[in-house]
Amino acid sequence: MKKSYIPISSPDLTGNERKYVNECLSSGWISSKGTFIEKFETGFASFTGNQYAVATSNGTTALHLVLAALDINKDDEVIVPDLTFVASANCVRYQNAKVVPVDADIQSWNMDLTKIVKKISKKTKAIIAVHLYGNPLNMERLSSIAKQHNLLIIEDAAEAHGAQVKFQGKWRTVGSIGIAGCFSFYGNKIMTTGEGGMVTTDDKTLYKKMKILRDHGQHPKKRYFHEVIGYNYRMTNLQAAIGTAQLERIEEFIPKKREIASFYTHELKGIAGLTFQTVADNAKSVFWMFSILIDKPYSIKRDQLIAKLAKEGIESRPFFHPVHSLPPYKGKENYPVATYLAKHGLVLPSGSTLKIKDLKSVTAIIKKYARKI
Ligand SMILES: *Cc1c(COP(=O)(O)O)cnc(C)c1O
Repeated sequence: MKKSYIPISSPDLTGNERKYVNECLSSGWISSKGTFIEKFETGFASFTGNQYAVATSNGTTALHLVLAALDINKDDEVIVPDLTFVASANCVRYQNAKVVPVDADIQSWNMDLTKIVKKISKKTKAIIAVHLYGNPLNMERLSSIAKQHNLLIIEDAAEAHGAQVKFQGKWRTVGSIGIAGCFSFYGNKIMTTGEGGMVTTDDKTLYKKMKILRDHGQHPKKRYFHEVIGYNYRMTNLQAAIGTAQLERIEEFIPKKREIASFYTHELKGIAGLTFQTVADNAKSVFWMFSILIDKPYSIKRDQLIAKLAKEGIESRPFFHPVHSLPPYKGKENYPVATYLAKHGLVLPSGSTLKIKDLKSVTAIIKKYARKI
């Protein structure tokens, strides 16, 4: 008998994806012109509660587009969480600006807001606010720091579509609070277009600038007249067709993610040596990837558990390597919390297509190695 395989995540494409893609194929509109792009942008902007949205080729180009449009440059420094996917830092370097990592918070695993101020210099221009694994960063506190020091906030919401956070007394969808919010639609994200990204904003000037930069710096009214060096960061109509269908079902995907998280939490709580990411009272996580920390007195180490799960056909992953530990970003400073989390963190299968019986086989293995006391 073929052993079942439980992946970290696989996309759910059982809605109108095929129908809309077929519409593109029949009409011939498969490149970056076509009706789905605007439809997807408008729909996504209303999903986050923003005025504008700009679809891009992926989440990384979304981030870079914002920084380029904001004119972040070689004289600038940008604060970035040390524990994040590398794209949150790379986009800063594409603009030749300096990446200034900030250590993680041991509970939320997000950037430790108490450690930001001492990293701010005269050159600091912006903060990349990452909502790690779908858990919203405290935007109220971050905003007050940013305001005090006159810094821009760019939200990297690549892992947090639909997550909400209390801001000025109201629940707000992440990506709508900073000057811009960036999203990814990579295959394992909460919703997908294969590869794809989106910037959301309420700033009309920024929006217009991003549209120009996304399209080779071409003047909006003068064809082939390029006023600035731009990029080709456009999304295709095919991707937008898939995105439109996915967006129709986002309110189905998010509860599924939360269900998976509450199942894991319920099954695994009380096991000595396991801890979870803390979601604050003023935040509603979308649990992009449900993750745990594994430390003594649990009977085996994180990497050993990854191997045990793999033997049973279950995919799991370690956390990201902290930015400061990667060769392009190596410095002298220590980031003890991010280092600890990266060493002990384990990402469990979290795709919205998983069934409870799949999750049960995951928790059964984890329980098997729990220390009996
Ligand atoms: C996935 C991700 C990105 C990059 O998105 P791509 O679409 O893969 O380019 C950026 N930041 C974070 C935090 C991510 O998880």
